Amino acid sequence: MVLRGLRKRRGPLEVLRGIDLDIPAGQTVALIGPSGSGKSTLLRLLMTLERPDAGSIEIGGVPMWTDPRTGRPAGAAHLHRVRGRIGMVFQHFNLFPHMTALRNVAEAPRHVLGLPRAEAEARAREYLAQVGLADKADAHPAGLSGGQRQRVAIARALAMRPDVMLFDEVTSALDPELVGGVLEILQELSASRAMTMLIVTHQMKFAERSADRTLFLDQGSIIEDAPSAELFRAPRTERARQFLQAVI
Ligand code: ATP
Ligand code: MG
Repeated sequence: MVLRGLRKRRGPLEVLRGIDLDIPAGQTVALIGPSGSGKSTLLRLLMTLERPDAGSIEIGGVPMWTDPRTGRPAGAAHLHRVRGRIGMVFQHFNLFPHMTALRNVAEAPRHVLGLPRAEAEARAREYLAQVGLADKADAHPAGLSGGQRQRVAIARALAMRPDVMLFDEVTSALDPELVGGVLEILQELSASRAMTMLIVTHQMKFAERSADRTLFLDQGSIIEDAPSAELFRAPRTERARQFLQAVI
C-alpha cells in the first residue's frame, strides 16, 4: 500500500496534511494518536468511503482513484474492484440484526461476489471457525455477546478475502473482559501475514506487542513511524512522549 501526499479538509480544517506512507504486503501497522488527529479519516479514505482532496493511494500497485487501463479518473467499475480488496471493521459492528451469524458472513460473498449459496455458506463457516465461533453460526446478533458480535464482524470482512484489513477501534465499545478475545484474533491474523493490517487502537500494550510498526498521527501529520518496540520504548517527539504518558 502506497500513500503519497494525501490531504483532506473538512470545511476550514485541514484534517490530513500530506500523508506519505509505504506499507509492504503482510505488515501489521498500529495507528495511534490523540482524538481528532485524523485516524478515522485516514481509514475512511483507504476504504474509498471518501475521496482525498490531493494525493494518491495505491493498493497492490493499483491506483485507487485513477483507472490504470485508461489513465482517467476511476469510474464505478474500477472503484468496485479496488474496494473488493479492502475490508474494514468499525467500533460499532452493524451486523444485520434479523440474520444469523452465518448469513451475516455469507451475505457479501453471495451477493457481491456472486458465489452460489452453498459455497458462500461454506466460506462463512470457515471464517466463523477462524474467529472461534463455529458453534454460533445459527445465533442472531441479539443472542451474542459484544465480543462475539465483533468477531462475527471480523469474519464478515475476512470472508471477502481482502488484501488489506482496516480496523478502527474495534475494542473500544466492548466491556473490558471481552477485549482480550478480540485482540487475540487480531494477533493471530497478524501472525499469519495473510494480509496487510492497519489498526487504529487505544490498546497500547497490544500495539507494542502485536504490530510490526506503529505510526503516531498528530494534527493530520505522521510525526513518528518506527518499529513498535522502538516507538514505545523511546518516542522521538515530545508530543508522542506526552501522549503515551497520558494513556498508558
Ligand atoms: P478519535 O480518536 O476521536 O476517533 P480521530 O483521530 O479518528 O479521532 P477523525 O475522526 O479522523 O479523528 O477526525 C479528524 C478531524 O475531523 C476532527 O477534528 C473532527 O472533528 C473532524 N471531523 C471528522 N468527521 C467530520 C465530519 N463528518 N464533518 C466535519 N468534521 C469532521
Ligand atoms: Mg476515530
